[in-house]
Amino acid sequence: MSTQSPHLIRKKVIAGNWKMNKTAAEGVALAQEIVEAVGRETLVDVVLCPPFTALASVGHELEGQSVKLGAQNMHPQKNGAFTGEISAEMLRTLYVTHVILGHSERRQYFAETDAFINQKVLAALASELRPILCVGETLAEREAGRTLDVVRAQTTAALAGVKPEQITTVIVAYEPVWAIGTGKVATSEQAQEVHAFIRELLTSLYGAALAQKVRILYGGSMKPSNATELLGQKDIDGGLIGGAALEARSFVELVKAAMAAA
Ligand code: PEP
Repeated sequence: MSTQSPHLIRKKVIAGNWKMNKTAAEGVALAQEIVEAVGRETLVDVVLCPPFTALASVGHELEGQSVKLGAQNMHPQKNGAFTGEISAEMLRTLYVTHVILGHSERRQYFAETDAFINQKVLAALASELRPILCVGETLAEREAGRTLDVVRAQTTAALAGVKPEQITTVIVAYEPVWAIGTGKVATSEQAQEVHAFIRELLTSLYGAALAQKVRILYGGSMKPSNATELLGQKDIDGGLIGGAALEARSFVELVKAAMAAA
């Protein structure tokens, strides 16, 4: 196993999930403010994930900057009769580099299964998109003491068929469902425990050298006031941010907190 500090081998990531917010014009305005503050930032990977309708115009704002463009979902098939869906290739033509997959809102409201998420992960990798794979337990599952079982099952199923040479392209996001958009943040100990568990699981699947290179983000009410503590944990390599990504000031502060922790 590497003796290098995790901070040296894993570049932190701050990804903003705008969800179903921001028209194209509003997205451009937000992206402009972010680019002005951290557009050339290279110490941390900064990713903006606007809704599909704002990808092209936000992407245009990011041209020549180091901030990257992500989508919030995609369909695993290349094309065909899938009304309302978007393929990896369509995303690639808009210069999208990252795609959020398996977000708990997709699992909960759109009945996405682990098997379907796995197909998406494989399709994203085949198209050279970086999946941001979301896993996490509900409050009932945590209270029943099933957190690690749920996270193990979701992660293992989503990564089925992912080859060792592909695994460091995947970014995992641990998002306890009870902390998303609720203002209830996991304590840094709770989050670190699950992050370390995910890294152990990756170690058992891919070996320590590769597992040490995979970025594992925390998501769930991360904001400037709690980011430093969370980002200081050994296995927390960044954040997937919902609410605090909708405003430039808080998002930029999170990027700066990640820079300070890098
Ligand atoms: C999310 O939905 O990915 C998320 C982390 O949301 P929030 O930051 O609002 O909890």
